[in-house]
Amino acid sequence: MKLRIGIQKSGRLHEDSMKLLKECGIDVSNGVNKLKTEASNFPLEVFFFRDDDIPQYVEDGVADIGIVGENVVYEKNKKITVVEKLGFGKCRLSVAVSRNDDYDGPRFLEGKRIATTYPVLVDRFLKEQNVTAEIHEISGSVEIAPGIGLADAICDLVSSGSTLFMNGLKEVQPILQSQAVLIRNSGLSDAQMAILQKLLFRIQSVKKARNNKYILLNAPNDRLDEIIGLLPGMKSPTVLPLAEKGWSSVHSVVNENEFWDIIEKLKEAGAQGILVVPIEKMII
Ligand code: ATP
Ligand code: ZN
Repeated sequence: MKLRIGIQKSGRLHEDSMKLLKECGIDVSNGVNKLKTEASNFPLEVFFFRDDDIPQYVEDGVADIGIVGENVVYEKNKKITVVEKLGFGKCRLSVAVSRNDDYDGPRFLEGKRIATTYPVLVDRFLKEQNVTAEIHEISGSVEIAPGIGLADAICDLVSSGSTLFMNGLKEVQPILQSQAVLIRNSGLSDAQMAILQKLLFRIQSVKKARNNKYILLNAPNDRLDEIIGLLPGMKSPTVLPLAEKGWSSVHSVVNENEFWDIIEKLKEAGAQGILVVPIEKMII
């Protein structure tokens, strides 16, 4: 019994998807030019597809699971189950208009022509906003549509906004925040679910590790309580005596988001020689 996963053949999600499998300890030779490859140390077959096709293939059972952007999942609207957010491929689907336009809310779009590759999501947004507009579905280079007189506005994926800027456009209205997700066929067998659970456990350990750092520091014993109070740790920090009298070494785990805040406070509390190192896996 093997689980078949569909990932993007090439493009923005390909490398991060391969990296995630690798960090899960799954050995997959990079077969970019092939249709599929097999993991040597985990019951997994990897298929390489165009990202747009992945929801359909997972619904049909051509693949059991897949990695694809939420933007594609919600646009395609297939009967599949979203299992886990993966934390990469982050972008947003946004409405953009000409830099000279005064956008004053969704009303601006009334009666306008909007070019997009996401007609389903745009239509849903317009309905929610009670706005009637013409949706022009085009398949690529959406950002040039206003410049050539094909549309008054566009709705496209944005991460930095530089493509919009280069085309004289500005982002005015995000309609969906997106990241890569793991999806599965809705009718997997018990044996397939068991493999998925194993994979999911590894993915969650990798995700936790990415969000946390291991921190080591030296603390004067007379301020140890204060310093320990600043460190959450997995259970509680490890404290070891240093060779130098009156000092201890403290080890703990801190969350990436609270990281700089904690470092500041640790320094104020007299911590020295602070080392921060990445964590490879985290199992709690
Ligand atoms: P394919 O040949 O597989 O159809 P594609 O050209 O449709 O590829 P990519 O541009 O590689 O797709 O984007 C794949 C996914 O990466 C998007 O659907 C989206 O989820 C994510 N992504 C992240 N940032 C961006 C961005 N700035 N622009 C476009 N997609 C992004
Ligand atoms: Zn695509």
